[in-house]
Amino acid sequence: MYRTHTCGELSISNKGEKVTLAGWVQRSRDLGGMTFVDLRDRYGITQLVFNMETDASLCGIARKMGREFVIRVSGAVAERSNKNLKMATGEIEIIAETIDILNTSDTPPFTIEENTDGGDELRMKYRYLDLRRQNVRSNIILRHKMAREVRRYLDGEGFIEVETPVLIKSTPEGARDFVVPSRIHNGEFYALPQSPQTFKQLLMIAGFDKYFQIVKCFRDEDLRADRQPEFTQIDCEMSFIHQEDVLNTFEGLARHLFREVKGLEFGEKFPRIPYDEAMSRYGSDKPDIRFDMCITEITEAVKGRNFAPFEQVAYVGAISAPDCAGWSRKQLDEITEFVKRPQIGAKGLVWAKVEADGTVRSSADKYYSPDDLANLALMTGSDAGDLILMMAGPREKALSALGELRLEMGRRLGLRDASVYAPLWVVDFPLLEWDEETMRFYAKHHPFTSPKPEDLQYMESDPFRVRANAYDLVINGTEIGGGSIRIHDPETQSLMFKTLGFTAEEAQKQFGFLLNAFRFGAPPHGGIAFGFDRWTAIMGGSDTIRDYIAFPKNNQARDVMIDTPSTIKQEQLNELGIEIKKDKAGS
Ligand code: ASP
Repeated sequence: MYRTHTCGELSISNKGEKVTLAGWVQRSRDLGGMTFVDLRDRYGITQLVFNMETDASLCGIARKMGREFVIRVSGAVAERSNKNLKMATGEIEIIAETIDILNTSDTPPFTIEENTDGGDELRMKYRYLDLRRQNVRSNIILRHKMAREVRRYLDGEGFIEVETPVLIKSTPEGARDFVVPSRIHNGEFYALPQSPQTFKQLLMIAGFDKYFQIVKCFRDEDLRADRQPEFTQIDCEMSFIHQEDVLNTFEGLARHLFREVKGLEFGEKFPRIPYDEAMSRYGSDKPDIRFDMCITEITEAVKGRNFAPFEQVAYVGAISAPDCAGWSRKQLDEITEFVKRPQIGAKGLVWAKVEADGTVRSSADKYYSPDDLANLALMTGSDAGDLILMMAGPREKALSALGELRLEMGRRLGLRDASVYAPLWVVDFPLLEWDEETMRFYAKHHPFTSPKPEDLQYMESDPFRVRANAYDLVINGTEIGGGSIRIHDPETQSLMFKTLGFTAEEAQKQFGFLLNAFRFGAPPHGGIAFGFDRWTAIMGGSDTIRDYIAFPKNNQARDVMIDTPSTIKQEQLNELGIEIKKDKAGS
């Protein structure tokens, strides 16, 4: 070993001991006859002292060391006169006696400090230097702890970790596949898994009973903020279970992780909110329930008063923001601009303020009597001092705009505290989703998701009415995971494919291997998959998954450190039988 101790472990109890440390020079300061060097490794920082008077040549060497030099130092642990109680090692320093320079370093392109001067692009280009920063490293350590605890809990529950292949055929998650050309079979391609969905179902047919895997998944989706083309799932499947068993098992996982990683206990069972209720009260299928400010439908109450924006619409809804009646014109204009942004696309916002004396003033005063407005305050549960914000439109569109407005108001009022965790299950998702563009149904989750048995009767007569045995775990307004009970009988599966517009031949071509397997005694089964990067980020109090991935892609899906995607040699293309069309290359 190069060292007797790490840079994070020495304390006053080691006073007088001779020790050897190795690490990187964080910084050095010359003060009169002394040189102080902060030596850093993964575990912490220890101060080294070199004294010009007692050893001028050693001190001379120390003065020449630049930032990020790799050194080994031996010396005695001494008590500091000037203690820094914020640092674990802040009560001691090492009086250096010998020094070895193990390696020099170029001057790093940004400072290796918590608050660095490096921009995003530069830090990603030199990610190995960025990872030396304590706060970045601690994110990766948090990720490690999460993975360890996932394995510990699931192992304890009898789950077996099984690896599934990476070179596969398209999976049914509904995003675009990444494809890998085959050299041996020119003109044929593998797909990278969007998830191990079909394999985990096959493992249930194989009798494994409880499976899990912490696994890389790949989705070639269009660029959206904070998405990664490759990401990690905690993927799980169980046999001979009902939805209730899955929810209980994985609520157990969530509780275990919160306990072991954050030291948090949740007394009550996680709330379970049906999809319809999530949409109508929160305008979202992933509600942030750290705060209330729920949506109230007011369609009937505001119609018939000749107020044009509310007359010709299917839906009018409102939220009531506590203690915001004092908002200025400027604040109201700002929030109106917020909902008019193309991402939200609302036409406008109507407000009403409940004054201290209980009278209600509104931007639509001319059309509504004081009684109408008082009734509005009553319906929305508004008290003196509250601000009512209303929006109208087609039902789903207006609800989702109100949902965005609710989140923005929550943010502005400081109600979305990253240190507070509010997990819940959203259940009873619709089985199908209608796509206007292609004029056909899509599976809301995926085509193996089981309809609720009691809704199966509507599959042909009223498909919108069919709910699925599908569920999502949501924490603080973010979907952390989702899954479903699967179809395990061939008739229901055929009906599902038919509803999705597949012919029997198409279904057989794409999923024949699974359909065939179902003929050999498939047990009832179901499962779930969690976004591991996202869950870790939330546990770290952040919403940026990139910070929790050691070597992430940037938001252009590029790795700027290794510079990829990149072109390949003509020989490689020839071997693969691939020709690059001129108008595509480099575009
Ligand atoms: N395979 C699904 C997904 O990745 C999850 C599941 O149904 O278990 O979203």
